[in-house]
Amino acid sequence: LSGAPITAGAIDGLSQHFPACMLHLHRTLRSTKHLKHFGRLQYTLFLKGVGLSVEEALNFWRGAFSNMPADKFNKEYAYNVRHAYGMEGGRKNYRAKSCQQILLEHPPGTGEAHGCPYRHFSIDNLTVLLQKQMGVTDQAVLRGVKQDTEATKYHMACNRVFEYAHAAELKREKEKGQTFTTLTHPNEYMVRSWELKN
Ligand code: SF4
Repeated sequence: LSGAPITAGAIDGLSQHFPACMLHLHRTLRSTKHLKHFGRLQYTLFLKGVGLSVEEALNFWRGAFSNMPADKFNKEYAYNVRHAYGMEGGRKNYRAKSCQQILLEHPPGTGEAHGCPYRHFSIDNLTVLLQKQMGVTDQAVLRGVKQDTEATKYHMACNRVFEYAHAAELKREKEKGQTFTTLTHPNEYMVRSWELKN
């Protein structure tokens, strides 16, 4: 994102721009004060991708795991955050996962919050998430999402929600002759949302 660097404290506010997958991870983290391994990995790499530094990432996760003693966090979790930033082990520069990877790798099991809600949620749970957390109240949009997911066009459902949530801004862009390109990456979704709303 352009402008000032992102801090741990800014993430709650920025979550209004998140796609369903990252919003679900964020809300789960806030309500349970924990995420399991693949959820932490998916969310850490996403936040890294939007510009959170490793120091701020450690602040964010330490604060989010507020039920955990600091020494346990430092011993068991800080390593994985630094590892995701390429600062431990093989020092590989891991990139944020694309929709394709999230849709195909490691389907979430019981108690796990990673994955893609359009693929991994029941239609009832997905509808609740869209209505209650993403403000999708238009029945035609919800019906469209249902049809997309039944046809296994998960990213189409996600783009449909994006277009609904940014309808006014996209209309203005279209009037200026700019075209909308389909989003295929959670980080693209977030950055594009942020740009349109700022
Ligand atoms: Fe996230 Fe991609 Fe699924 Fe949208 S389609 S919720 S960006 S994984």
